[in-house]
Amino acid sequence: MSEYWQKDGFYWQPLGGNNIDQISGHSYQYTDVIYDVSNHLKQVTSIIVDLGKFDNYQALGVAGASAAVPDIRFLLSSSLISAQAILLTHSHPDHMNGIPHYLKAGYSLPPIYGGKYTKMILDDLYIQFNIAAEIRPDFIEIKEGDILNIGSLEIEVVSASHTCFDSFGFIIKSHSTTVYHTGDMKMDLSTYFRKPTSVKRLKERSAEIDYCVADFYGVHEDGYAVKEVDTFKQLVKLIKHSKKNKIFLPVYPTHPEMYIIAFLAALKLKKNVIFFGNPDFYSYLKRIIDYGINFSDFAKERIKVIYTHNRDEIKSLNNNYVVIGTYNHVSLNFDASSKDSFGIITAKSFFNPLKGQFNAHNIKFVSVDDYPVLQGFGHGFLKDIEELSQILPQTTFIPTHCPVYIIDYFRELANFLNIKLIAPTPNNNEVFLLSKEQSILVEKRISLWLSVLYQSGVASLVEVEQKPTSGEGFLKRTISKRRCMSKFQAYLYQRKKKFS
Ligand SMILES: [Zn+2]
Repeated sequence: MSEYWQKDGFYWQPLGGNNIDQISGHSYQYTDVIYDVSNHLKQVTSIIVDLGKFDNYQALGVAGASAAVPDIRFLLSSSLISAQAILLTHSHPDHMNGIPHYLKAGYSLPPIYGGKYTKMILDDLYIQFNIAAEIRPDFIEIKEGDILNIGSLEIEVVSASHTCFDSFGFIIKSHSTTVYHTGDMKMDLSTYFRKPTSVKRLKERSAEIDYCVADFYGVHEDGYAVKEVDTFKQLVKLIKHSKKNKIFLPVYPTHPEMYIIAFLAALKLKKNVIFFGNPDFYSYLKRIIDYGINFSDFAKERIKVIYTHNRDEIKSLNNNYVVIGTYNHVSLNFDASSKDSFGIITAKSFFNPLKGQFNAHNIKFVSVDDYPVLQGFGHGFLKDIEELSQILPQTTFIPTHCPVYIIDYFRELANFLNIKLIAPTPNNNEVFLLSKEQSILVEKRISLWLSVLYQSGVASLVEVEQKPTSGEGFLKRTISKRRCMSKFQAYLYQRKKKFS
């Protein structure tokens, strides 16, 4: 390992967010190295943003592995660049589930900074992994607007529109440059009971933001990512037009925002609500309620809200309700029939058995295939990044959370749209020196993952080299190389036509 910290500057390294076969395993290193006028090393500050797990660990081919995590070991040993903090953007597994595996492997971690909801989900993980209180790292709860002073870095916490509570971005100011790290987000301002992206603050600090690590991957989709208000409106419309009394509205267990949007649609139409689902659904529902969302309070006297599938309780709702949850059958508890029932399926494939049930009972339903807006979406599309680049016109963008070829193919269109992109496209584990004037690739390193193997409750970490992204496998179903290239060509053609 060469010692890039022998030169003054601000260094950035993706440790899991780029060149991946699946969207997961985020972790980024930011290191501020300061030399004084007589060229003596004055101060070094390193932080890590996110520590996710890599979902597609089977593809790495390590027999017996149960997970894979980014390699941050060099930031945990006692060296000059050892990390002083881990900042968490939000509570999703691909951004923080690396934490329990490192603790299980015997590493101690620096203090963790994250939101209230993030801490609730992290505490659940500690229990699930049986991690003793003594070895849990310190947790510092943060909120929008907080300024964190860590070593030489000044970090402002900004909000991000995403699918879970307390999703943040960070404006990281070093001695030589300022970087806005977005976290998973879209530009949607219509979030319910959560702060939307801090557009006003970004505008205020626009002139000083030199780089934007745009950690969302939807740039190959045109238009804006689905706005929550549009999902809400569509639900209201569908429920209303069905003219049925009993509405079955299944949602993904890990999408709290959908529980809330579905509830608000029911409330708007004065239909009672039954939360009904599997243990996973109820555990996330409990987190939402523990966080402070009190559905019964919102309902006031207007509707009844129940959390069981007790027949008598259901009877008390006078056959006027929306069932929100996870269930793959139309339970006998609801006496559902084609006359009085209607289904709205908000996720792909997960609820296929339920579709079968609807068909068996001749119950009409619509699905996300008919109305894509029903699924919601947490990651910005092309229009989101265009809008962000207009707010930050002088900023160089570093798209992450996507395969490298997406960024490469995006260049021509980005150029047309006046979006400045970093060059060359960063690969996982490469180190970049970021300064006001320029970005320089200072170190090429092979892309490594650590496969996690467990024996008697203790984790061992095995190095595995990541091969370049193939654009096949998982990605073939989402965005293959060829489809990606032709999409960008089509967008460019449409836009050129508009201006000619
Ligand atoms: Zn996320």
